[in-house]
Amino acid sequence: MNAKEYMDLGEQNVIHTYNRFPIVIEKAEDVYIYDVEGKKYLDFASGIAVSALGYSNEEYKNTLKEQIDKIMHTSNLYYNVPSVFAAEKVVKATGLKKCFFTNSGAEAIEGALKTAKRYAYDKNGADEYEVIAMQHSFHGRTMGALALTGNAHYQEPFGPMIPGIKYAEYNNLDSVKALVTDKTCAIILEAVQGEGGIYPATQEFMEGIRQICDEKDILMICDEIQCGMGRTGKMFAYQHYNVLPDLVTCAKALGCGVPVGAFVAGEKCCDSLVPGDHGTTYGGNPLATAAVNKVFEIFEKEQIVDHVKEVSEYFEQKLDELVEEFDNVTARRGKGLMQGLVLTTPLADTIGKAREEGLLVISAGSDVLRMVPPLVITKEHVDEMISILKKSL
Ligand SMILES: *Cc1c(COP(=O)(O)O)cnc(C)c1O
Repeated sequence: MNAKEYMDLGEQNVIHTYNRFPIVIEKAEDVYIYDVEGKKYLDFASGIAVSALGYSNEEYKNTLKEQIDKIMHTSNLYYNVPSVFAAEKVVKATGLKKCFFTNSGAEAIEGALKTAKRYAYDKNGADEYEVIAMQHSFHGRTMGALALTGNAHYQEPFGPMIPGIKYAEYNNLDSVKALVTDKTCAIILEAVQGEGGIYPATQEFMEGIRQICDEKDILMICDEIQCGMGRTGKMFAYQHYNVLPDLVTCAKALGCGVPVGAFVAGEKCCDSLVPGDHGTTYGGNPLATAAVNKVFEIFEKEQIVDHVKEVSEYFEQKLDELVEEFDNVTARRGKGLMQGLVLTTPLADTIGKAREEGLLVISAGSDVLRMVPPLVITKEHVDEMISILKKSL
């Protein structure tokens, strides 16, 4: 079959919720993707910040192959071997107490939301149900996560949303304070907003939210689904701020390609959910948690986070040069290997041109070119990206 035939077959049978780019991906190697026509692309999207280890980590792949031979799935009615080690690593890396594995980011958000509500319920009954989220946030597409996503366009056709969600202005502490009531049970934010346009939180904002939460016994939830797992040069982005949330959500790069997420709870709320309160059939199955366990091992052994710190300095410098050089690039925002360029010319043109030239990049919001490459990229890959981007701007 040729590319056109694959695309036609896909369009006939898959619900059209995405306007896809017109390439059909077949395989990948290192940090390059190949389409069915054999065209090679430098991947600065990594399946939306998922494929942190790139595509050729043999140790990771062999672990999955071996796990498939042992057992892929059992249920949560039994303990399984990889999940206990994976959970220990997630807990240790976050600095929190206990975690629950999910199959996606949105489900991790649902679990964190339920934990916050359950914590408040034990304290005050069903009255304390309000949650403060941020404008331009993104937390996922299920009904709870969608309600927390401060984007009217995503919500409108699916109302009414779950009640009690309020939206504060990101990086504006007063706007958060103005929304706090006796009914507030949680405040949720991304330490670096992803879909909303790559906005890092200020130190003052993160500290201020922690303080409000401490004063009023509100749970602070950090959504680390995109900015976590080493992407910003710390294992989790909140760790730049010396602030410890009460709940953390994780997914995307957690399994580096195997669909898996987690919500992680701190001291206060790690025992709030009790048997019967929550569950999942697939969540934490042996295949997914074998991946998580190995990802953490590789991160440690190959010092991935240190590598991100090093290569991202160069990455930022090169992007800053583009801001200087091109009139249509007005700013760079981001942390580590999560970077956005603000363009004044149509994003789709640049993204399309880059693709034709062999580079995959994506958008965030309406005017931000987003780059979330595999964390294992080298300076040479940055140079290759820059030379293609220059032709595409
Ligand atoms: C992608 C994303 C989600 C949703 O994760 P899914 O796996 O797509 O459900 C939630 N929050 C943030 C910050 C994300 O980037």
